[in-house]
Amino acid sequence: MLKQARKLLNKYYGYQDFRKPQDEVINSILRQRDTIAIMPTGAGKSICYQIPALLFSGITLVISPLISLMKDQVDGLQEMELPATFLNSSIPYPEVAERIELARRGKYKLLYIAPERLESAGFIDLLKSLPVPFLAVDEAHCVSQWGHDFRPSYLAIRTILSNLSRRPVVAAFTATATPEVRKDIANQLSLVAPDLFISGFDRENLTLTLRKGIDKDQFILNYIETNRHDAGIIYVATRKEVERISGLLAEAGFRVGRYHAGLSERERNQTQEAFLFDNIELVVATNAFGMGIDKSNVRFVIHYNMPRNIESYYQEAGRAGRDGEAAECILLYAPGDQHIQKFLIEQNAPTSTRISEQLKKLQEIVDYCHTSKCLRGYILTYFADQKVVEKCGNCSNCSDDRELIEITTEAQKILSCVYRLEQRWGIALVAQVLAGSQNKKVLENNFNRLSTYGIMSEYTIKELKDMINLLAADGFLELSEGKYPVVQLNNSSYQVLQGQEKVYQKIERKHHKIRSDNRLFELLRDLRKEIARRENLPPYLIFHDNTLHEMGRHLPLSRSSMLMITGVGEVKFKKYGQEFIEVIQQYVEENNLSEQLKQESFPRRRPKKDSHLLTYQLFKSGKSLAEIAAERDLSPRTIEEHLFKCSREGLDLELDCLIPSNYEEEILRAIKQLGCTRLKPIKEILPDEVGYTAIKAVLCKYKYRT
Ligand code: ADP
Ligand code: ZN
Repeated sequence: MLKQARKLLNKYYGYQDFRKPQDEVINSILRQRDTIAIMPTGAGKSICYQIPALLFSGITLVISPLISLMKDQVDGLQEMELPATFLNSSIPYPEVAERIELARRGKYKLLYIAPERLESAGFIDLLKSLPVPFLAVDEAHCVSQWGHDFRPSYLAIRTILSNLSRRPVVAAFTATATPEVRKDIANQLSLVAPDLFISGFDRENLTLTLRKGIDKDQFILNYIETNRHDAGIIYVATRKEVERISGLLAEAGFRVGRYHAGLSERERNQTQEAFLFDNIELVVATNAFGMGIDKSNVRFVIHYNMPRNIESYYQEAGRAGRDGEAAECILLYAPGDQHIQKFLIEQNAPTSTRISEQLKKLQEIVDYCHTSKCLRGYILTYFADQKVVEKCGNCSNCSDDRELIEITTEAQKILSCVYRLEQRWGIALVAQVLAGSQNKKVLENNFNRLSTYGIMSEYTIKELKDMINLLAADGFLELSEGKYPVVQLNNSSYQVLQGQEKVYQKIERKHHKIRSDNRLFELLRDLRKEIARRENLPPYLIFHDNTLHEMGRHLPLSRSSMLMITGVGEVKFKKYGQEFIEVIQQYVEENNLSEQLKQESFPRRRPKKDSHLLTYQLFKSGKSLAEIAAERDLSPRTIEEHLFKCSREGLDLELDCLIPSNYEEEILRAIKQLGCTRLKPIKEILPDEVGYTAIKAVLCKYKYRT
């Protein structure tokens, strides 16, 4: 059975193999076992139920809470010409009736529904008349009151199961891992001795970055400028901030959408669509945005404010890089964030036990913002993941290349000023006093007579505020709670004042690009966009970014090499393969390659066909033949031929790696003896272990004309 499953994976999805634990989950379902799969965002849950659905006879029911997600999934399936449809409140009645009729006639393998539908008697009657071998529950934590997203209508699933004449296999999928939720899922859905699969929580392609005490606006402006063509989400705490920051970015010339619960549904949909269709690169949003955003090529997620717990953070940040390509998750921490979250928790939590539970979780994310250990390690430990990471090398604590400068003296000046101000004033006033401002409040209170007045007048007020924030973020100062936080000293402050502890500031270097795109990628992306517009689908449903990148690396020009590319299945090849091949062909023959070659100062007399020159370039960059063959998706023989051709064309090449040194002289003698017009006689008088490659390499090395 699993073999057939793999065949479908290759043929329709264009993927070589299952990831862990997809194969085990599918196997369990195919063996008719109830199954719970806990897999993080982007791990590939959908394939786990789509493939069994295709293999079972009858129609599989998929329960999904989000209308947009449903549509997205069904569009994706239809793109692969797999028969699927969905029913939810967004569909007008006549259309519903038609879909139901088609379902009755066995036209679909998958039917996605919102849980509310299970409360309709008419729908239950329909279900009774359909062969339903399998029921998949997506976002299954919604059935649990312990979860963060309880949906009462999920409870109807259990009723439905007991009503069906033949009980289907049930599989529940979620990314939420806590044991209570897991137990609750099994109970509430009445699963029968379910098999449980938990995949690791690590998302290796995500770079985890933390920045504190910095000028956040400047940071995002610089960052977005560096990664101009990449899609990103910026999460902020409040609607007001959404307005301000989206305005700031729009003013700086970026294409940006905004999203929060205070906007009309129309505008929210517009933003979402524009983002999905790659018409805007950026969305500034509250946490209302993202549930059900399946867009796979989000390259960065920036949290402008610290969220309320690690679960929310990892879920939101995890919307980056679902395609498996490099992506970055950045959390910008400021001490005030903590107070906002605390206030919200106290306002909204129903009971005091809930409050203390949530405050504990809040403290855990505050700790994340202050740990000096590996950030990935921290998160994996938090989720009790089996994988233990000490130093991942891909987070801002493991690989921090920022320059450290000591600011102990500055810190001491700031702290004494706070002391002189009797710990009764906010950041702004402290900064004004240090800068020697003539502000009314300063003068009215006679702060211009303080010994610390103007002792840091070489800094701007803004720089001073940033520095105070940094001290607070690093725990050398406290900010009181409440609407007007007051700067106060703590134990660490006194240690600094007494010269027992040093203070450092990290200086931001120029941002790295998350990933470098080349020109061919851009061409392929343009083509994808054109097709997306024609088909009225989001571009990532045509091909994911990594599929385009792979095309860019391997330059596939035939059906067979195209089918080797991850994400190109037969159906998609039939629909779009030729168009992509044409763009690649044109690129190889005319465009960028010749540009690149000129830059590398190749001889002017450039032969028409360039493929061997690309090999040459890779070879010169130090890659081995095997590596080049793999990268270019060509056989090692072809790569050798390319090199010989380059050598014959007079390019500078070191071919010794192809010549067994103990035979070099013997080969050379044979060539001198027999001439170089035919290779076969040469091969015949040499020992068997000397191959044609070695002979050709010697011919090239000694510049024989063949
Ligand atoms: P989840 O629902 O778990 O968040 P998805 O089902 O949306 O994740 O899958 C995430 C991405 O991974 C999708 O782009 C999907 O096409 C891709 N994917 C899933 N399984 C595989 C696989 N076996 N090989 C390559 N890519 C895969
Ligand atoms: Zn790390």
